[in-house]
Amino acid sequence: MTYAHMRNRDTQHIWHPYTEITSFEAAEFPIVERAIGCVLYDIEGRELLDGISSWWCVNLGHSHPRLVKAIQDQAAQLQHVLLGGMSHPRAIELAERLARIAPAGLGHAMFASDGSCAVEAAIKIAMQYWTNLGQTGRTRLISLEGGYHGDSLGAVGAGYIDQFHRPFREALHPALQAASPYCNQCPHGCRPETCDLPCFDSMRALVRENHQHCCAVIVEPLCQAAAGMRIYPAQYLRRLRKLCDEYQLLLICDEIAVGFGRTGAMFACTKAGIAPDIMTLGKGMTGGMLPMSATLVTDAIYDTFRRRGDCARTFYHGHTFCGNPITSAAAVAAIDVFAEERIIDSLDEKSRQMDVGMRAVAQVLDLSPLRTLGMISAIEINPSAGGAGRARRIAGRACELGMFVRPLGGTIYLWPPLTVDPQTLDRMTGIFLQAAMQTK
Ligand code: PMP
Repeated sequence: MTYAHMRNRDTQHIWHPYTEITSFEAAEFPIVERAIGCVLYDIEGRELLDGISSWWCVNLGHSHPRLVKAIQDQAAQLQHVLLGGMSHPRAIELAERLARIAPAGLGHAMFASDGSCAVEAAIKIAMQYWTNLGQTGRTRLISLEGGYHGDSLGAVGAGYIDQFHRPFREALHPALQAASPYCNQCPHGCRPETCDLPCFDSMRALVRENHQHCCAVIVEPLCQAAAGMRIYPAQYLRRLRKLCDEYQLLLICDEIAVGFGRTGAMFACTKAGIAPDIMTLGKGMTGGMLPMSATLVTDAIYDTFRRRGDCARTFYHGHTFCGNPITSAAAVAAIDVFAEERIIDSLDEKSRQMDVGMRAVAQVLDLSPLRTLGMISAIEINPSAGGAGRARRIAGRACELGMFVRPLGGTIYLWPPLTVDPQTLDRMTGIFLQAAMQTK
């Protein structure tokens, strides 16, 4: 089977997500057949480093033997049963484990398959929580400009990125949006050493004016990823936690992208020292191998849904495959791998190494701003260095040099598997450097 033949069959029938069709059809795109660790192998045996953990999820590397075995063993025993009205051991084990590792108080898990579904559940739980308490009309959300929480309509309304979501604008239940803590383009001219978060004033004003008809504030903790890896200070989250307490608003932290180690701690909230009322998880939950997500809530929220014999308190929500045994087994194994391989303990040093490597890239790009948080390192390319066009050319060249990355507008970034070894990490930053030097 030649590459050309495969490529032709692909473009005839697959609709690729987030992909401009005509340029994709014109390009030579990788067709990956197998993958191990940080390396993808295409159908002609060519190696390609995975610089973005296959859409931010393969945190423990491809083909991790522990995860593969857990999936195989479970697949041989029980593939699926519903969680409506029954249960199974793997889901029980997973829910217990999540309660143990999550920030304090998040003791109840509603499972789903994708991040967007977990966000939908979070939004609906927040709305129904207030009706359970007899307060109707609290249906609005407050979020951050540039926030991204998924592609289903509820999740799109919670976030909103104009370039992605304009055609659906009229169909949304839009959140009220506070100014983004966008440190690279700080309108207040703050420097990190002395910043007192003047950007938080916008959030405070919105909450103060609107809390009575809002159910919750939803944010991506520490990093607005899809907006272009906007990394912001933990202090912002601590203030937000206090503000939500003051005005009795629920705080939803969407850890779908950053959960499971990405920021250098198991969860970004833990790193910031806060506990939200609702937390959404996805992507890295199964080591990124199978689709699974979860919405975790506190006892206080869960308890409002249980009143003897009161069906009006029931949460009429759920997906066919929620808590699937095979995905649950993978998620339990992934949590084991984090502990057994001391993944979190290894991240500080790798983060420093990645930062040093990316600093050299930023230098070539007219000292464009670089931010590193745990295992995320992002450069927002200055307009003087070519902005979004340069980012696209660098990503294209990087692919030719042996690393797959996808820019976000004018931002190039590394988001490698957390298990990456120092040599591979050097190769990744080295390819970025070469690609930056070889493009204009
Ligand atoms: N929330 C955040 C913060 C995300 O980054 C994403 C996906 N990039 C989602 C939600 C949606 O997850 P999914 O693509 O699995 O639906």
